[in-house]
Amino acid sequence: MKALLVSLLLVSGGALAADYGGPLFDAHLHYNDEAWQGPHPLDDVLTRMQRNGVRAIIANSRPNDGTKTLAAAREQTRTAGVTVVPFIRLYRNRDDYSNWFRDESIYTMVQQEHARGTAAGPYRGIGEFHLYDSANANGPVAKKLMQYAQQHELAVLAHVDDVAIDLLMAHAPNARLIWAHTGIGGPSVARVQALLEKYPKLMGELSYRPGLSCVDDRGQERLCPDWRALMLKFPDRFLIGSDTWVNQRWLYYDGLMQGYRRWLGELPPDVARRIAWDNGARLFQLAPP
Ligand SMILES: [Zn+2]
Repeated sequence: MKALLVSLLLVSGGALAADYGGPLFDAHLHYNDEAWQGPHPLDDVLTRMQRNGVRAIIANSRPNDGTKTLAAAREQTRTAGVTVVPFIRLYRNRDDYSNWFRDESIYTMVQQEHARGTAAGPYRGIGEFHLYDSANANGPVAKKLMQYAQQHELAVLAHVDDVAIDLLMAHAPNARLIWAHTGIGGPSVARVQALLEKYPKLMGELSYRPGLSCVDDRGQERLCPDWRALMLKFPDRFLIGSDTWVNQRWLYYDGLMQGYRRWLGELPPDVARRIAWDNGARLFQLAPP
């Protein structure tokens, strides 16, 4: 264990809780054009992952070139100790964000990309995709892509609301759906729990999730009690992620990962380890780091 990862945190009640110090699986990473062609070339992002103990990533990018760049850098990723789990992004450009669910050319592109694979091995999922109006979960291409993912055992990283979770799962009840942000609009903990109970393969990724942190009576930022209880109840269903959707997120990568380590440290060690690493590793059959 690297010493810098086991800094101690004073928590309420006077007890000392150590930050989580084990490996991290970053389940929501983008490596877009403006990052790798700009201020964050490969050595920069791999250094950031390495110094934060990030040992595997779900990689996706707009367009897919960034993911392929990461996947092709076999020597550098091996040296950094980072396993690349490549996902097929549906977006060639920003216009595709609001049209992909009805654009047949995107369905064709996904199939071609899937057939091609990457230097780090086959694609393991599709996404992240967005649905700003949940009704578009019933768009013809959205439906076909969910069924394609289910048929080919590709995970799906979806930035959608709770209504769209039901619609997407109706298309492909056995799909491995990863709910980006576990609902960025902040559906209630009760609603999240109901969906986890209804869909045993549904996973929740926790970047940007509203309501995770609370301030306790001593002014300390803590994991909120209702979320802590949900994680204890469903320790196998959550993942952490950076969501490096703009370059600024790369600048804050250290702080994002330290933030996760802080609240993971408030959980029992086995639960923290599962959310931080094991759940992602299990989804994609990764060996322990
Ligand atoms: Zn994202």
